[in-house]
Amino acid sequence: MLDLTTKEIKERKALRINPCKICQPVGALYAALGVRKCMPHSHGSQGCCSYHRMVLSRHFKEPAIASSSSFTEGASVFGGKSNITTAAKNVFDMYDPDIIAVHTTCLSETIGDDLGSFITDLEVPEGKLVVHTNTPSYVGSHINGFFNMMMGFMNYLTKKTGAPNGKTAIFPGWVNPGDIKELKRLANLLDVKTTFFPDQSGVLDAPMTGKYEMYPDGGTTIEEIRSLGDSSGLIALGEIICAEPAELLNRKWKVDYTLLPLPVGVTYTDQFILALRKQANTVVPPELEHERGQLVDLLLDSHQYTYQKKVAIFGDPDVVIGLTSLALEMSMTPKYVITGTPKEEFTAKINALFEKYGVKDCTVKANADLFELHQWIKNEKVDLMIGTTYGKQIAKAEDIPFIRAGFPVLDRYGGPLQPIVGYAGSIRLVEQITNALLDRFDRDAADEDFEIVL
Ligand code: SF4
Repeated sequence: MLDLTTKEIKERKALRINPCKICQPVGALYAALGVRKCMPHSHGSQGCCSYHRMVLSRHFKEPAIASSSSFTEGASVFGGKSNITTAAKNVFDMYDPDIIAVHTTCLSETIGDDLGSFITDLEVPEGKLVVHTNTPSYVGSHINGFFNMMMGFMNYLTKKTGAPNGKTAIFPGWVNPGDIKELKRLANLLDVKTTFFPDQSGVLDAPMTGKYEMYPDGGTTIEEIRSLGDSSGLIALGEIICAEPAELLNRKWKVDYTLLPLPVGVTYTDQFILALRKQANTVVPPELEHERGQLVDLLLDSHQYTYQKKVAIFGDPDVVIGLTSLALEMSMTPKYVITGTPKEEFTAKINALFEKYGVKDCTVKANADLFELHQWIKNEKVDLMIGTTYGKQIAKAEDIPFIRAGFPVLDRYGGPLQPIVGYAGSIRLVEQITNALLDRFDRDAADEDFEIVL
């Protein structure tokens, strides 16, 4: 279906074709699902809410709950105050969450609903809470929605009691539940007491028990969010997605923070482990040194097949930065690197990686789209593509091996349960990348070159 994509590239400013991002409320919803007994609430029309839930449910293969202010024509003209008032009452009466996390949509932003004052006027049952954030979908992407929702929770709830809680706060950024579990395992190995915020593990990877639980037994608790200001330190993972939340916690409560790239590959995982070690003043356990050694060994073993292979990497900025660093550690050439999120810090980080590894003739772009990536590929082909499901038509049209990573992956199963972070997650990625290249090698091999041992 993309066979008609042209080679000739024309400059576009106001048009995105085949976007490489989703709208802000999807991120706000995902962040809110990482809080225990929280009902995410979409202040807009039902169609938006259905779409946001659908894209999350299709990635995680789990129900993504959310309620809606259900705007109709009346609310669109006169404002949505009565809708949110009725909605909050109904949601507390019928679904009994501990907290409702409201985000806006294009419609409520365009008509200028003042959610802060609406929420102040709500009748909230004793012991229950309502927080909100603004997520205008015509700026930024789902990444902005995610960190805006984090900051919404922090603005409403965090405080400093003066009594340190003895814990290190970890902002894991936008990762899968399998990644959060791996990050927790690493912190446990280094004996660091942590609060993960948000924490979708146990929520969007809940087991089948035969009984539907609207609020699975996972997520950051309200008390833990309140106590973030008493943390002994903060490690924020994802230099794009976590920069503003980390800065907010520091500005409000003077919590020192370390902002790091997502720990994908050797270098970035080393940085995370060193930051954890500093928090706990411990030594790195032999078990972790062993894992690191296995990853380095695998990089060496697979090097002959990955060396100078050209790869296109696309998706969310922090995941793409991590994947690009790993690709460079594998001696691959990250020919095209894009994100749909409009953050110029992304281009600076990727360019710094290009410079560090001395690679030339590679292109990076933020606020880009997949049509543009396809045109670049038409002009100079790559050996591999790594990114979200939305790249699959390009991979098919151009007959390029394709590895799914990041969000969303709508057409494969099991990914959200598995990590891409840490040494263990990186071993998984190196295996996938190398084997995808070897599968292609086998497919194209002449009979006399079709070997049992590679
Ligand atoms: S872009 Fe705006 S209108 Fe479209 S689904 Fe997102 S919030 Fe709704």
